[in-house]
Amino acid sequence: MSHGPLGIHLSVGQKYDDAVAEAKALGITCCQIFTHNPRGWQFAPLDERAVKKFREDLMRIGVNPVASHCNYLINLGTNDPEIRSKSIECLKQEFVYAAAFGCQYFVLHVGKHKEQTMEQGIKNVAAGINAAKKEIVKSDVILLLETVAGQGTEIGRDFNDLGKIFPLLDKELNGKVGVCVDTCHIFQAGYDIRTPEKTAEAVERMEKAFGVDKVKFIHLNDALKEFDSHVDRHQHIGQGFIGLAGFKAFLNHPRIKPIPKILETPVDEERGYAENLAAVRKLQQ
Ligand SMILES: [Zn+2]
Ligand SMILES: [Zn+2]
Repeated sequence: MSHGPLGIHLSVGQKYDDAVAEAKALGITCCQIFTHNPRGWQFAPLDERAVKKFREDLMRIGVNPVASHCNYLINLGTNDPEIRSKSIECLKQEFVYAAAFGCQYFVLHVGKHKEQTMEQGIKNVAAGINAAKKEIVKSDVILLLETVAGQGTEIGRDFNDLGKIFPLLDKELNGKVGVCVDTCHIFQAGYDIRTPEKTAEAVERMEKAFGVDKVKFIHLNDALKEFDSHVDRHQHIGQGFIGLAGFKAFLNHPRIKPIPKILETPVDEERGYAENLAAVRKLQQ
């Protein structure tokens, strides 16, 4: 079995041609984008023609699938009525934009339960997704719940907590919701992947919690902090606490191999995406 598509989080802004040129130069075969400013609730007006051309250009150079990543403000887990209603509106809009950009996936940070219990937070998340079901069902975009490192009251550190969301979703959403696994986050959450045996164990725990078939997209990031420290800080592939042996084990697990993967590694004086892509390709057997 061959490896699935490999790419990066592609920085887009309004500079579509530059983004396509970067994708081509790096030789990537999938990517993740923000369809709007991730630090704001506002969506700039959609230039449908430019967006359509951008997607066609990516397709032409072999970049497929494309995932959209949520903004950083969405929180469906909280009971705060203002944040909740803004988050639900934002989620609906994210689907309109992701569909316009021709994305197959939309990656969601499910949120924080804040002052509520985890159980209440999980219910809130499911209710929030259900509230956006019309927009989700109308689009061809699959919603992916992202695994988290577990900073503060983040929901999704335990695979079982993500798993508990699925049975609470309305039946119209059957097959429309999956999972995005982030290697740094799961490692920080306490799922060791540093050897083939540990990787197999982590994959088995995914299988039990929600089913590996639901994992449609993977973020490949090494971890800046040590195992199980719940800190979401990314490092270059092989230079963090997961290390080259860990990535070798993870990338070559038969269930993980075919899933599309992107990097969200730092871009600094030491390395950019080209070097981290090369590191991953070298480990893929
Ligand atoms: Zn994310
Ligand atoms: Zn992260």
